[in-house]
Amino acid sequence: MEKKYTHILIDIDNTILDFDEGAKQAIIEGFKDINMPYTEDIFYEFLKVNKMLWEQFENKIITNARLHEIRFNTIFSNLGLDLDGHAFEAAFRERLHVSHIPVKDAENMLKYLFSKYDLSVASNGTFAQQIERVRLAGFTIYFSHLFVSSDVGFQKPDVRFFNNVLNTLNIVKDKIIFIGDSLSADIQGGINAGIDTIWFNPKKIVGDLTPTYEINSLDQVKNIL
Ligand SMILES: [Mg+2]
Repeated sequence: MEKKYTHILIDIDNTILDFDEGAKQAIIEGFKDINMPYTEDIFYEFLKVNKMLWEQFENKIITNARLHEIRFNTIFSNLGLDLDGHAFEAAFRERLHVSHIPVKDAENMLKYLFSKYDLSVASNGTFAQQIERVRLAGFTIYFSHLFVSSDVGFQKPDVRFFNNVLNTLNIVKDKIIFIGDSLSADIQGGINAGIDTIWFNPKKIVGDLTPTYEINSLDQVKNIL
């Protein structure tokens, strides 16, 4: 029987805001600033190192502060570039702080869901930064609550992050479904908390976890909700 959801939880990065594209633009501009030539392999190294460090953060192997401390030094060292990763990270984060490139169909999906459900954001990251990016994208109006790990005190996939969401919204877990792109944070988090999930998988990668539903574009949400 179809479940009667009343609330939707939505991840931010690479679900409604294109973190990858924002990061790429920030790196390109950062290289311009230091008068160094930018090449695509720098961005691919960033994606690789960033994913590895975020998984370590999600598994509590490193802190968020440590991630920022070592990210670009690791990337530059892997690429054999003798650059100041610390200074680059600071400039990078300043740009990322205001990057707000929407994912395709994100606004249409939010408008549609907003007409039927209570929507909240569920994001790992820094509260001020994530809120500002949602605001700059014009998406704040769609959300009743903004759950960001630095503010909640726990991060996805920790079950305590989701318990905080359920307690704050004052609902049982059957009433909510979580839309996100990350298997390690979002889908694993949903599984840990016993909350249904929609895995947004635009690159059609093969996953090792089973979400409740899977979509490849955000307009497919309408087929489920
Ligand atoms: Mg994400």
